[in-house]
Amino acid sequence: MEKELKDVSQASIAQALAADYFCIYYVNTETDRFVEYSGSEEYDRLGLPKAGDDFISFSRNRFEEHIHPDDRERFLDRFTKEKVVESLDRTGTFTMTFRMLFGEDERYVHLKVTRMIEKEQRHAVIGLSSVDEQMRARAAYEKAHSESITYSRVAQALAGDYFSIYEVDLEDDSFVEYSSIDDYDTLGVEKEGTDFFETSRKNMERLMYHEDLDRFLRVFNRDRVLSIIERDGHFTTKYRLMVSGEPKYVSLKATLLNDSAGAHLIVGTTDIDAQMKRELEYQKLMESARTDAKNDFLANMSHDIRTPMNAIVGYTNIARSNLDDSELVRDSLDKIGSSSHFLLSLINDILDISKIESGKLVLSKERVDLEDVFRRIEDITLLQARNKSLNISYDHTSVKNTHILTDELRLEQVLINITSNAIKYTPDGKDVYLRAEETDLGNGRSLYRFMIKDTGIGISEDYLPHIFESFTREEKTTVNRVQGTGLGLSISARIVEHMGGRIDVKSEPGKGSEFTVEVELERTEDDATGSVEEKPLEDLTGKKILIIEDNDINAEIAAMVLSQFGMTSSVAINGKEGLDVLEGSEGEYDAVLMDIQMPVMNGYEATRAIRKLSGDYYRDLPIIAMSANAYDQDVRNCLEAGMNDHIAKPFQPEELIRTVAKYIYRK
Ligand code: ADP
Repeated sequence: MEKELKDVSQASIAQALAADYFCIYYVNTETDRFVEYSGSEEYDRLGLPKAGDDFISFSRNRFEEHIHPDDRERFLDRFTKEKVVESLDRTGTFTMTFRMLFGEDERYVHLKVTRMIEKEQRHAVIGLSSVDEQMRARAAYEKAHSESITYSRVAQALAGDYFSIYEVDLEDDSFVEYSSIDDYDTLGVEKEGTDFFETSRKNMERLMYHEDLDRFLRVFNRDRVLSIIERDGHFTTKYRLMVSGEPKYVSLKATLLNDSAGAHLIVGTTDIDAQMKRELEYQKLMESARTDAKNDFLANMSHDIRTPMNAIVGYTNIARSNLDDSELVRDSLDKIGSSSHFLLSLINDILDISKIESGKLVLSKERVDLEDVFRRIEDITLLQARNKSLNISYDHTSVKNTHILTDELRLEQVLINITSNAIKYTPDGKDVYLRAEETDLGNGRSLYRFMIKDTGIGISEDYLPHIFESFTREEKTTVNRVQGTGLGLSISARIVEHMGGRIDVKSEPGKGSEFTVEVELERTEDDATGSVEEKPLEDLTGKKILIIEDNDINAEIAAMVLSQFGMTSSVAINGKEGLDVLEGSEGEYDAVLMDIQMPVMNGYEATRAIRKLSGDYYRDLPIIAMSANAYDQDVRNCLEAGMNDHIAKPFQPEELIRTVAKYIYRK
């Protein structure tokens, strides 16, 4: 009876225990044969054999493929016959945990091997149970635990940066001070209390540097702080505290902590005094450097502008007092002309330099034929060289691809600048060479190298490193009375730099200098838009032009140029008057010259209004801006307002006539 009971209970105990396992294997340790004692439906779906010869090999071969790849190596390493037996001998069991794959699911599985002796035969029982929930809970716990340890260490480390930290319970605005350094304690502020904002405001009235108090009181209130935190994630403000009679910069930062303990504000204050003082010092230094540079610039500019102005004013007076002496008048006019020319190039250079220095230089990328560029450089510099009886030679035979993408005017400006210098700083009768070379870099790009060599006065070793700086000139050139501003090379160097190229100079005093400009440029296909021969001026006799211009002198100059070419004109003194004139005289005028800055109605507004008048005449009437606003953006604005073209003041008579003709004959 007792034995029976024992058998029954053993069976049911086994059964009850077996329910914890989703699979149990039974292995004869003598023969190594195994059978599956029970397996769950899900386990069955893995399709593993239910019996076999060598359990360890079976597991390592077949079982392994159902183990998570990250756990496979560990499994193969531990689940060997030696290690299992060794563990059983030592502890009576062998266990290990790994992740198994059931289709898409992965699950933590605990494998347990125990020995049993039954009817003289030795067996091992291998049970697999799911420990997924426990393992996940444990992993989550470990992660949270390690995070909270890390957080508290990080918090501790960061807290060192703050000389005070408050935690404010936003439910009732009560506060406690978390940590503070000793110095702060001497300020005598509360370590806990009920109304954080009110308490702080009161304390600050006592502790803050008086100049900063007003602003602080304006921003530091509950609503404002919370709404800024909501918007930016935090609230910060800087102010000065009086510490031992001295104002010291501090920075206050408030952030929101929203967790199971409710909404809390963490408010920390750091000492930024040294940092702020350094920053202010630096700003002061920069400001004074800027002022120095500005003063130098103004001094240079005013000197350079006064010199040619002095000549213009002086020779105008000489001419006026000697009207009968036509020789003297002509000579004075020549000098006025050349001084004006110099003044204009100076103004352009000053504009260029300030544009470059304020980062506003924008290079265009247009289809350019280098042949045209070479031709224009030759036209200009040949004349300059002839005036000095210099020999100048050009060689660009090795440039095979002349069609490129670049900013034509700027490239030309650089090359003319350097070549003009070579001519300027080379005594009469000597030689200047300009040579261009091309190296094909493949991929549709070439390196263009321009070399400008002279046999002139050369540049001293001392000055050479400064040659590309603004407003610098070598002393001997100023002593020799060669006109210049010391801006040309600095502009050229900056343009080349913008083009991604380089500019170099070699020189030997007394022997000459050689400048090299290298730029890598994209080539384009040869196209029909290449060079067009300049046409002779068209006959404009009898054409009628409306000049809209508020400045009498400018209007008069334009009218005189037009009349020299046989045209008639009338003047309107602002945009509104111009509009009225045109509205009452449909078809009468062949073109309009439009100033931009005018009282009552400016040139843009007037143009828009004219284009809005009904009739083809007002749509097609050529309107040409004639303006001193000469930046690229100004030109674009003119075109956008509906004008056809733009000429910059001061203009050359021929330029005005060509532009007017272009649009009158286009009609
Ligand atoms: P600018 O010619 O208007 O004075 P640049 O910036 O073009 O200004 O040149 C700066 C200075 O460099 C010149 O004043 C001159 O002293 C020196 N320089 C430039 N080119 C040459 C050259 N080819 N030979 C000798 N000196 C030169």
